[in-house]
Amino acid sequence: MADPAGLPFRCCVNLKHLISARIRQDGPISLADYMGDCLLHPSLGYYTTRDPFGAAGDFVTAPEISQMFGEMIGLSLAQSWLDQGSPRQFTLAEPGPGRGTLMRDILRAAQAVPGFAQAADLVLIDASPTLRDIQGKTLRDHAPRWIDTIAELPDAPLFLVANEFFDALPIRQFQRVGSGWSERRITTQDGNLIFGKAHPMRIPALEHRLGDTKDGDLVEICPAATSIVTTISQRIAANGGAALIIDYGDWRSLGDTLQALQAHKPADPLADPGQADLTAHVDFETLANAAKTAGCNHTRLTPQGVYLERLGITARAQTLAKNLGGTALNSHVSAHRRLTHPDEMGTLFKTLGLYPANATPPPGLNP
Ligand code: SAH
Repeated sequence: MADPAGLPFRCCVNLKHLISARIRQDGPISLADYMGDCLLHPSLGYYTTRDPFGAAGDFVTAPEISQMFGEMIGLSLAQSWLDQGSPRQFTLAEPGPGRGTLMRDILRAAQAVPGFAQAADLVLIDASPTLRDIQGKTLRDHAPRWIDTIAELPDAPLFLVANEFFDALPIRQFQRVGSGWSERRITTQDGNLIFGKAHPMRIPALEHRLGDTKDGDLVEICPAATSIVTTISQRIAANGGAALIIDYGDWRSLGDTLQALQAHKPADPLADPGQADLTAHVDFETLANAAKTAGCNHTRLTPQGVYLERLGITARAQTLAKNLGGTALNSHVSAHRRLTHPDEMGTLFKTLGLYPANATPPPGLNP
């Protein structure tokens, strides 16, 4: 964020004014810079100022839908830990843990595997002080600690899960013009924020997209995602471990996937910066390539519904259903459907596993 010093105070009370002032001073900004400010501005950002989850918030994530999601992930990570000889000390990490619900369910389910929790050094990465507070409360029995960047992950075996973290990382968008690319940028007009375009130029990171796109097509890149996956993969390649990356997106993204959500409804991403959740589809091919370059294997990209079924979610759902009746049973059945059915999260959401070159892939995922 540009230093607002020197601007009249009344300009700084809302993020739209602040971003507009920055654009007037420095010129149009990239979508990545805009998203970074909207989501994580220290005092006005979306995540920094609120708990966005649940019926009263803006969106619901898989671990908030049912405890079964975290239980499946917990058993999967614990199995990978056993498969790799039960390292006596390892990092159990989660970037973007939200309310801490997923990690709480992981640790409860993993109690079935003796020694796992005792060997785990629980490390969370979250840029939101508001959510860190909530995570601390949810996980108070598990002594979590927080680091500010992925680079601070200890040099130890790493078992990591990231659910709906990568979709929150800032993206840049480019429209193809001949064999060059024109970046979509944010500028101002009559007091409003609008999309504009930069002059087309050759972009080395997009050379590989010249083969599968045509003039006018829009593609996205997420620079932060590549560097985060590189660091995670380097730790796993050097020390062992596994990473489960779960998110919405596809092997290769094409078109504008930027989405703003406010109170569970789509919103205009430029209308009210800092007040809506902004996400974009994850381009899993880029993540898989970053892992490979860092010496790590990756699994096939697997739809969430297939993945959870392979891990046994239906058997678990049936066991839990035995103790439920009435509305509790109905909502349990619809939660199972919501997580797994192709018309709900089952196909849109996908899992990519990362693991060391000589190890077994994480359960439920094929090489
Ligand atoms: N995994 C959780 C929450 C997903 S929402 C769930 O499934 O419920 C995204 C989370 O990532 C939030 O906790 C948010 O504060 C965090 N986050 C977003 N951008 C981040 C960044 N650049 N660095 C660290 N954490 C970030």
